Amino acid sequence: MSGTPATTISCDSIDWMNLDWQDELPNNIKNVDALKAVLPLTAAEEADLRQVVDAYPMNIPRYYLDLIDPTDADDPIRKLAVPTTEELIVAGAMGETTPDPYGDDKHDKGNGILHKYAYTALVVATEYCSMYCRHCFRKRMVGLPNNQTVENFRNAATYIAAHPEISNVVISGGDPLLLPTEVIRQMLDALKEIPHLNFVRIGSRAPVVYPMRFADKELLDVLADFNRSKTLQVPTHFNHPNEITPETAEAVKRLCEAGITVNNQAVLLRGVNDAEETLVALMNGLMSIGVNPYYLYQCMPVARVRHHFQVPLKEGIDLVDAARRRMDGYAKRFKFIMGHDIGKLEICGRSGNTMVLKQIHARQEAPEEASRLLAYTLTETGGWLDDFDEVALD
Ligand code: SF4
Repeated sequence: MSGTPATTISCDSIDWMNLDWQDELPNNIKNVDALKAVLPLTAAEEADLRQVVDAYPMNIPRYYLDLIDPTDADDPIRKLAVPTTEELIVAGAMGETTPDPYGDDKHDKGNGILHKYAYTALVVATEYCSMYCRHCFRKRMVGLPNNQTVENFRNAATYIAAHPEISNVVISGGDPLLLPTEVIRQMLDALKEIPHLNFVRIGSRAPVVYPMRFADKELLDVLADFNRSKTLQVPTHFNHPNEITPETAEAVKRLCEAGITVNNQAVLLRGVNDAEETLVALMNGLMSIGVNPYYLYQCMPVARVRHHFQVPLKEGIDLVDAARRRMDGYAKRFKFIMGHDIGKLEICGRSGNTMVLKQIHARQEAPEEASRLLAYTLTETGGWLDDFDEVALD
């Protein structure tokens, strides 16, 4: 980015939690012309970013943009929100990439249902988000239009009702909490009476990037009402302590007051949170606002993401171990996770160059793989399971 200091991002006088969330959405920064009015760009950067935005759209709420220090080209919030020319690199120094690293498409049952683990159904309810994160692992689908949300969801609920092995549902996206409140109510109503469902999760980054969504009392009433029938949880996605603000703390507080448990799923990202101090401040900070640190994901080999965001696993394991030593007891309960095609793997640690993992979820077609231990020989630069040779365990 240009070294010219910018002074134009300030929204100091705005009382974010008193804004109407729907009125504020059109103020999001969605194109390079709007971006260059608030952040300085050279002519070359401007041309490159137009190519980047053509490949993956930009959408930045004013609230989130206001967290960026415009004089710092390495600001971590900027890296999460603002496109960079590095996104033009489909597969770079960290190795090959894929649009679908978690193997979602193989488990697609139609109507937005992904049924990979026997007991969990994930429903992609929308592809819209209040912000298009630059590191998103669903880049292949986020930002696409979807006009059949409720009808698809009713069909998804019919599938879930017909599969008694499904004990829990994740409503995901995109960001389902950016749907109109009435649509959310209809979706939850479709799940309320399914007897074999123990609990429902709604994955949302809105508490972090669009906290004014939780100024809507009607939404909180809908969530609280459902929570009286079935346990409702909101997995969210804080990546950096600078995202913990009075507004995000207030959003979380309102969810907690509605009886909702809020868990965090962060991603380890180069240049954003790959520092011991940052991870300690993030996890301890989450505990201080009532969010449970749940997962820290290894960045997936996603096209236009891996090259600049992924941290080599050897380095990542040491970093996480060093940070954990300094965290509060509850803050260090999170699992360091690889969300791989074969299932979800906890990265337990390393002994020399041997990395030990424990599988915590297995695909329906390979249930015997659940709870197994795995070991691989680490290299200095490898960032994904497929980069390493497996080691036999006794
Ligand atoms: S909010 Fe989630 S789904 Fe949407 S762009 Fe960000 S990471 Fe991707």
